[in-house]
Amino acid sequence: MRKDFEMSEEDLDALLSAMKPVAMIALQCGAPRSRQENANEAWRRLGEKLGFDYMTVRPNGKGDRFFSAEVTPCKGIEIEPGVFSGCNQSGGDCPKCGK
Ligand SMILES: [Zn+2]
Repeated sequence: MRKDFEMSEEDLDALLSAMKPVAMIALQCGAPRSRQENANEAWRRLGEKLGFDYMTVRPNGKGDRFFSAEVTPCKGIEIEPGVFSGCNQSGGDCPKCGK
Protein backbone atom coordinates (compact mmCIF):
# COMPACT_ATOMS: atom_id res chain seq x y z
CA MET A 1 0.00 0.00 0.00
CA ARG A 2 1.44 3.35 -1.05
CA LYS A 3 1.09 6.22 1.35
CA ASP A 4 2.16 9.88 1.58
CA PHE A 5 4.80 10.63 4.17
CA GLU A 6 6.18 13.81 5.64
CA MET A 7 9.62 13.79 7.20
CA SER A 8 10.64 16.24 9.91
CA GLU A 9 13.16 19.03 9.37
CA GLU A 10 15.65 16.97 11.37
CA ASP A 11 15.07 13.95 9.13
CA LEU A 12 15.68 16.10 6.06
CA ASP A 13 18.86 17.50 7.62
CA ALA A 14 20.02 13.97 8.39
CA LEU A 15 19.44 12.92 4.79
CA LEU A 16 21.22 15.93 3.35
CA SER A 17 24.19 15.69 5.70
CA ALA A 18 24.45 11.95 5.05
CA MET A 19 25.32 12.83 1.48
CA LYS A 20 27.56 15.83 2.00
CA PRO A 21 30.48 14.69 4.20
CA VAL A 22 31.05 11.59 2.11
CA ALA A 23 31.38 13.68 -1.01
CA MET A 24 34.12 15.63 0.77
CA ILE A 25 35.89 12.48 1.89
CA ALA A 26 35.59 11.05 -1.59
CA LEU A 27 37.42 14.03 -3.00
CA GLN A 28 40.17 13.76 -0.41
CA CYS A 29 41.00 10.09 -0.44
CA GLY A 30 38.96 8.36 -3.12
CA ALA A 31 36.41 7.02 -0.67
CA PRO A 32 35.09 3.51 -1.26
CA ARG A 33 31.53 4.47 -0.37
CA SER A 34 29.65 6.44 -2.98
CA ARG A 35 27.35 9.29 -2.22
CA GLN A 36 24.52 7.18 -3.59
CA GLU A 37 25.26 4.38 -1.14
CA ASN A 38 25.30 6.79 1.74
CA ALA A 39 22.05 8.36 0.62
CA ASN A 40 20.50 4.89 0.38
CA GLU A 41 21.65 4.09 3.91
CA ALA A 42 20.12 7.33 5.22
CA TRP A 43 16.84 6.54 3.43
CA ARG A 44 16.86 2.99 4.77
CA ARG A 45 17.18 4.29 8.32
CA LEU A 46 14.39 6.79 7.79
CA GLY A 47 12.26 4.01 6.36
CA GLU A 48 12.77 1.95 9.50
CA LYS A 49 11.80 4.91 11.63
CA LEU A 50 8.68 5.93 9.71
CA GLY A 51 7.70 2.47 8.45
CA PHE A 52 8.14 2.58 4.68
CA ASP A 53 10.14 0.66 2.10
CA TYR A 54 12.95 3.03 1.09
CA MET A 55 13.29 1.37 -2.32
CA THR A 56 9.81 2.60 -3.27
CA VAL A 57 10.24 6.28 -2.34
CA ARG A 58 8.98 8.76 -4.90
CA PRO A 59 8.61 12.52 -4.63
CA ASN A 60 4.96 13.52 -4.61
CA GLY A 61 5.45 17.13 -5.66
CA LYS A 62 4.46 18.70 -2.34
CA GLY A 63 7.97 19.72 -1.27
CA ASP A 64 11.37 18.53 -0.08
CA ARG A 65 10.01 16.82 3.01
CA PHE A 66 7.11 15.11 1.28
CA PHE A 67 7.15 11.83 -0.60
CA SER A 68 5.16 8.69 -1.10
CA ALA A 69 6.34 5.13 -0.48
CA GLU A 70 5.05 1.64 0.09
CA VAL A 71 4.21 1.06 3.74
CA THR A 72 6.28 -1.70 5.32
CA PRO A 73 4.02 -4.37 6.80
CA CYS A 74 4.37 -4.67 10.57
CA LYS A 75 6.48 -7.68 11.55
CA GLY A 76 5.63 -7.52 15.22
CA ILE A 77 8.34 -7.40 17.86
CA GLU A 78 11.81 -8.80 17.34
CA ILE A 79 12.05 -11.83 19.61
CA GLU A 80 15.64 -12.53 18.72
CA PRO A 81 17.80 -11.01 15.98
CA GLY A 82 15.99 -11.52 12.67
CA VAL A 83 13.06 -13.39 14.24
CA PHE A 84 9.79 -11.52 14.56
CA SER A 85 6.62 -12.36 16.44
CA GLY A 86 4.43 -11.55 13.46
CA CYS A 87 1.40 -9.29 13.40
CA ASN A 88 -2.06 -9.89 11.98
CA GLN A 89 -2.98 -6.20 12.35
CA SER A 90 -6.41 -7.05 13.70
CA GLY A 91 -6.07 -8.45 17.21
CA GLY A 92 -5.35 -5.08 18.82
CA ASP A 93 -2.60 -6.70 20.86
CA CYS A 94 0.51 -6.00 18.81
CA PRO A 95 3.12 -4.38 21.07
CA LYS A 96 4.80 -2.87 18.02
CA CYS A 97 1.98 -1.10 16.17
CA GLY A 98 -0.96 -1.52 18.53
CA LYS A 99 -3.18 -3.15 15.89
ZN1 LIG B 1 1.96 -4.88 14.47
